[in-house]
Amino acid sequence: MNTVTRPRILVVGAGFAGVECVRRLERKLSPDEADVTLVTPFAYQLYLPLLPQVASGVLTPQSIAVSLRRSKKYRTRIIPGGAIGVDLKSKVCVIRTITDEIVNEPYDYIVLAPGSITRTFDIPGLTDHAFGMKTLAEAAYIRDHVISQLDLADASQDPVERASRLQFVVVGGGYAGTETAACLQRLTHAAVKRYPRLDPSLIKWHLIDIAPKLMPELGDKLGSSAQEILRRRGIDISLGTSIAKAGPEEVTFTDGRVIPTRTLIWTAGVVASPLIATLGAETVKGRLAVGSEMNLPGEDGVFALGDSAAVPDLAKGDGAMCPPTAQHALRQGKHVADNVIASLRGQAMKPYVHKDLGLVVDLGGTDAVSKPLGIELRGLPAQAVARGYHWSALRTNVAKTRVMTNWLLNAVAGDDFVRTGFQARKAARLKDFEYTDAYLTPEQVREQVDGPRPD
Ligand SMILES: Cc1cc2nc3c(=O)[nH]c(=O)nc-3n(C[C@H](O)[C@H](O)[C@H](O)COP(=O)(O)OP(=O)(O)OC[C@H]3O[C@@H](n4cnc5c(N)ncnc54)[C@H](O)[C@@H]3O)c2cc1C
Repeated sequence: MNTVTRPRILVVGAGFAGVECVRRLERKLSPDEADVTLVTPFAYQLYLPLLPQVASGVLTPQSIAVSLRRSKKYRTRIIPGGAIGVDLKSKVCVIRTITDEIVNEPYDYIVLAPGSITRTFDIPGLTDHAFGMKTLAEAAYIRDHVISQLDLADASQDPVERASRLQFVVVGGGYAGTETAACLQRLTHAAVKRYPRLDPSLIKWHLIDIAPKLMPELGDKLGSSAQEILRRRGIDISLGTSIAKAGPEEVTFTDGRVIPTRTLIWTAGVVASPLIATLGAETVKGRLAVGSEMNLPGEDGVFALGDSAAVPDLAKGDGAMCPPTAQHALRQGKHVADNVIASLRGQAMKPYVHKDLGLVVDLGGTDAVSKPLGIELRGLPAQAVARGYHWSALRTNVAKTRVMTNWLLNAVAGDDFVRTGFQARKAARLKDFEYTDAYLTPEQVREQVDGPRPD
C-alpha cells in the first residue's frame, strides 16, 4: 500500500542510462515532487568503454568504477540488489538484494535501464570455457588469467603445455573485441620481457569474427588501417570464421583449425538483460519495444532505454533502432528523465533524436583509429580524440583525475604485471559474472507479487 503521497520513480540499473536519468531527476525535481529510488547490484557506474584498459593493466579497476554517491544533489534512495522481475499490472518490481532477500518494490513510474549481457550461441562448450568482457570482475579476472598463463608456461617443462598456454583467442571484431585483443596483446608483448625463459615467438593472439570486416562502422579505409595495425603487431585476424567447439585446452574454429589454448574471450555481441523477458511485453531482437518517447505503448509510467530497449533511431529513419552504445544510452538517460518529469507534471513528452557522433577505437599505446563527426583519424591524433572523449565523458572530477594519473603513470613507468590472485578459485563462467540465471519467469513474478495460487 502506498502510504507516501509523492509519486515513486524507480530506476533499474546504474549504467550510462540509469545514472544520467537519476542525476537529471535529482536536479530538476524538487524533493517533495517525487521519491526517486535506484536499484543496482553495485555501488558504482562502470565506464565500460575503458574495460579493456583495466584488463591490460593500463588503468586500475577503481578508476573506471565511478561512485554513485559523489554528487552535490545526491538524495536518491539506493537499493543494493538486482531487479529479477517486473509485474506491469500491479506496478511492482521484484528485487533480489545483495544478501539474497526477495523484496517487492512498488512504483508509479519505472525506468528500465539494466543494459545488456553477453550474447552467446549454442556452440558446444562455449558457456563453460569462454570469458566475457562486460563486468569489472571479468576484466580483473582476465588480467590475472593472462598473467597466470605466462607464469605457468614459464614454469612448465612440457613444450605442448607451454604452447597452449601462450595462445589466446578473442572472438568478436566489434570495438569491444578489437580493443580487448589489441590491449591484451600489448600486455603479453611487454610482460614477456620479464620471462627470459619464454620464447616470445610462441605468444600468439587470434582475433576472429564471422563477419567479413572488423568494425564495419569505421568504413573501408579506416577499418583496413585498424586491421593493418593489428596484423603488424602479430595478431592473427580470421574473418568469416567463428567457433565450432570450445574445450578446456583447445578451441576448434569453423574453418577446421584446432587452436591449443586455455584462453577464449567471447565478445561477439550483446543481448538485452533477461529482466526484459520477465515483463511478457513485445520485444525487438530481445530489446523492449518502446516508442520514440521511450515509453512502453499501452502502459502508464513504464520507460526503457539504453542497451535493453529498442528505441527508434529517428535521426536515421527507415525503422532503424538506436545501436547499443554509451553515446546513445547517456543521452537517452537525460531525455527519459525529462519525459518522466513531463508525464508527472501533465505536460507533453518529446521524442528522442540524436545523430551519431562517430566512433573512437583505442588500440593501446599510440595506436588508435577514430571517426569523430565523419573525420577519419589515425595514430596520435586518433588516440588524443579517443582518450579525450572518454576522459571528458567520465562523470566525476575524481574519476577523471584517477584515469589521467593512471595513464601518465603507465606511460612513464609501465606495468608490473602483478597477478593479484583475488579471484583465483572463483567459478569464472559467463553466468557466474553476469548473473544470467537469477531471473524469474513472468508466472513466477506474478506468484511472487500476488502470492501462490490456490490449487
Ligand atoms: C568492452 C566494451 C567497450 C565499449 N566501448 C564503447 C565505446 O567506445 N563507445 C560507446 O558508445 N559504447 C561502447 N560500449 C557500449 C556501451 O558501454 C553500452 O552501450 C552502454 O554501457 C549501455 O548503457 P546502459 O546504461 O544501457 O547499460 P550499462 O552501462 O551496461 O548499465 C546497466 C547497469 O544495470 C545494472 N544491472 C544489470 N542488470 C540489472 C538488474 N537486473 N537490476 C538492476 N541493475 C541491473 C548493471 O550492473 C549496470 O550497472 C562498450 C561496451 C563494452 C562491453
